[in-house]
Amino acid sequence: MSKRDYYEVLGVGKDASQQDLKKAYRRLAMKYHPDRNPDDQEAVAKFKEAKEAYEVLSDEQKRAAYDQFGHAGVNGQGGFGGGGAGGFGGGGFGDIFGDIFGDIFGGGGRRGPARGADLRYTLELTLEQAVRGCEEKIRVPSWDTCEVCDGSGAQAGEQPVTCPTCNGMGQVRMQQGFFTVQQACPTCHGEGKVVENPCGHCGGQGRVQTTRTLSVKIPAGVDTGDRIRLAGKGEAGMNGAPPGDLYVQVAVREHDIFKRDGENLHVEVPLSFVDAALGGELDVPTLNGQVKLKVPPETQTGKLFRLRGKGVTPVRGGPPGDLLCKVVVETPVKLSGDQKDLLRQFQDSLEKGGERHNPRRTSWFEGVKRFFEGL
Ligand SMILES: [Zn+2]
Ligand SMILES: [Zn+2]
Repeated sequence: MSKRDYYEVLGVGKDASQQDLKKAYRRLAMKYHPDRNPDDQEAVAKFKEAKEAYEVLSDEQKRAAYDQFGHAGVNGQGGFGGGGAGGFGGGGFGDIFGDIFGDIFGGGGRRGPARGADLRYTLELTLEQAVRGCEEKIRVPSWDTCEVCDGSGAQAGEQPVTCPTCNGMGQVRMQQGFFTVQQACPTCHGEGKVVENPCGHCGGQGRVQTTRTLSVKIPAGVDTGDRIRLAGKGEAGMNGAPPGDLYVQVAVREHDIFKRDGENLHVEVPLSFVDAALGGELDVPTLNGQVKLKVPPETQTGKLFRLRGKGVTPVRGGPPGDLLCKVVVETPVKLSGDQKDLLRQFQDSLEKGGERHNPRRTSWFEGVKRFFEGL
């Protein structure tokens, strides 16, 4: 069966504003709402059609996709937004229903049962795990739908019944002077249904507190502050309402040798002063094992060497960053008498060569001289 155009369903033009859409949807929803049209299948179908159209068009992203690709742009999970854990999903019946009817009835309206709460979980990872990606098991304290009553909150074999106080409206009218005031029903708290004999397992709540073990796939390249959304893995809703989402917040632990800066990694490597003077080869650690780095003669301490592509491949795509290797010239310690003698001889020979062996010291002294002359 081919679907009707969403704009046609709502009876608005392609350039309809959010306000127009909301107005049109509200009008249709009021007209075809199942509560007002009991046992009318056609009304149910019209209600669903309007709800679907509004859900798509009221979301700027989905609307843009619909305008461009028609129904194909928004149908099915893989339509857009993709990328595994994400996608759009979410925003169940409860959301949109509350949104539209909430303000008609001044906030006290009968809403769908409340969607379960979103949960947040902070997941600590090592740098290697964050860079390579991993699969982690996490334990999440949560509410689960009660298995005994399947979320209804009623005893086995029974169903929640229409609330006798409000006849299922979730609202009661109270006379106050000249005014009739609508209030959430005190018996069913706005749910419209009550449980006569509550389920013994969950005490009529329809959900029970548990700890769940979840397996979370962490994509390669994540960094502190990144969030992974697991749709529907949050708390179970009350009375069979849809669950919330679980947000896994990544926190990367400090590493002993690498410092991360976005997609680049920094590492400090000690260099003997002989190699610094004569040149040599250094073993530099990377996340994928050691690599050789050629150090040219006359390398000064603090010099940065850039190893291209040895950094992190960003989670959002793009080329890998670099590894920035800083060499630190090390002063030798615990010298023997012979070694000290050799160094003294070496020092004498340097002094015979004048200041040309110490370019930095020469320019430094000149700077100091200029400073004192300027006083
Ligand atoms: Zn139960
Ligand atoms: Zn009631």
